[in-house]
Amino acid sequence: MANIAFIGLGNMGGPMAANLVKAGHSVTVFDLSKQAVDGLVAQGATTKPSAQECVVGAEFVISMLPAGKHVSGVYLAENGLINHIAPGTLVIDSSTIDVQTAKSVGQALSAQNIEFIDAPVSGGVGGATAGTLSFMVGGSDEQFNKAKPVLENMGKNIFHAGELGAGQVAKVCNNMLLSVLMAGTSEALQLGIANGLDPKVLSDIMSKSSGSNWTLDVYNPCPNVMENVPSSNDYQGGFMVDLMAKDLGLAMDTAVASQSSTPMGALARSLYAMHAAAGNGGKDFSSIFNMFEHKNKN
Ligand code: NAD
Repeated sequence: MANIAFIGLGNMGGPMAANLVKAGHSVTVFDLSKQAVDGLVAQGATTKPSAQECVVGAEFVISMLPAGKHVSGVYLAENGLINHIAPGTLVIDSSTIDVQTAKSVGQALSAQNIEFIDAPVSGGVGGATAGTLSFMVGGSDEQFNKAKPVLENMGKNIFHAGELGAGQVAKVCNNMLLSVLMAGTSEALQLGIANGLDPKVLSDIMSKSSGSNWTLDVYNPCPNVMENVPSSNDYQGGFMVDLMAKDLGLAMDTAVASQSSTPMGALARSLYAMHAAAGNGGKDFSSIFNMFEHKNKN
C-alpha cells in the first residue's frame, strides 16, 4: 500500500480519493474547501493544513483540479508543490486541461527529477464513485506501469495513450466525437418526431441500423425513450453542458495548435456554447436535443 497525497476533492476528486482509502492506501488530502476535506477525513483520509505539507513523504501525488491555470498554479507558482515534492515521486494529474499546460508542468517537474503523467478520465461522477473510470495516460512505459496499480483502485479501463500530453489529446478527441454524435442523434430524432414518428420506434430502428451509436444505445437524449438516463429526469445529473463546452474549447485549442481541420467539432462547440449561454449550462449535455425541437408544427 502506498502513501498518496490527493489535491482537489470536488465532484470527481472526492469519490476518487475515497476509493483509494477503501483500497487500503494511506491518503493525505487537501482542498480549498474545508467541507470537502472534512468529508474525506470522515471516510478515513488524513489531512494537513496546506497542500505543501500534504505532499511531504508521498510516493504518489494525485491532482483533480478544474482547469490548466489551477494545475500550473498548484505545482509551479511561487511556493508551488514543485518545491516540496521529493525527487522520484510520481505525480498523476487527472484534471482535464489543455495539452500545452500538461506538457509544461510535466517538463518543469521532470527537470527537478519528479515524475509526471497526465491521466484525464472519462466516466463522470457515477464512474468516480463506482471506481469504474477510464483513465487515458500520457507518459513513459515505466511511468504508466508504476501508476497502473494505483489507477486500478479508481478505474476499470487504464489506457496508455502515448507520451506526455497524449492522455489529454485522447480525452478531447473522445469528447469532441461524443458531442458530434449527441448533436447528430438529437437532430435525427427531432426530424423523425416532426414527421410523425414515435421516438422509441425510431430509436429502435436506428440503433439496429447503420446510424447506431453510444448515445442511441445507452444515453438516448429524447425524454422517456429510456429509463435511468438524464433525459428522462429533466436532464438532471450526468455530464453538464458547461463541462462539455469546456472540453470542446480544449479540443479547438488542440486543433488550432496542430493545424487540424475539425469542422464538425467546431460546429458542436458553437452549438454547446449557444446552449450554455441560453441558461442550460447546469443541465446534462443530452439536453442539446431541445435545441432542435420543431416548435411551429402545423
Ligand atoms: P469540481 O469543481 O467539483 O472540483 C474541483 C475541486 O478543486 C474543488 O473542490 C476546488 O475547491 C478544488 N480546488 C481548486 N483550486 C484548488 C487549489 N489551488 N488547491 C486545492 N484545491 C483546489 O470539479 P470536478 O467536477 O471534480 O472536475 C475536476 C476535473 O475533472 C475537471 O478538470 C473536469 O473537467 C474533469 N472531469 C469532470 C467530470 C465530471 O463529470 N464532473 C468528468 C470527467 C472529467
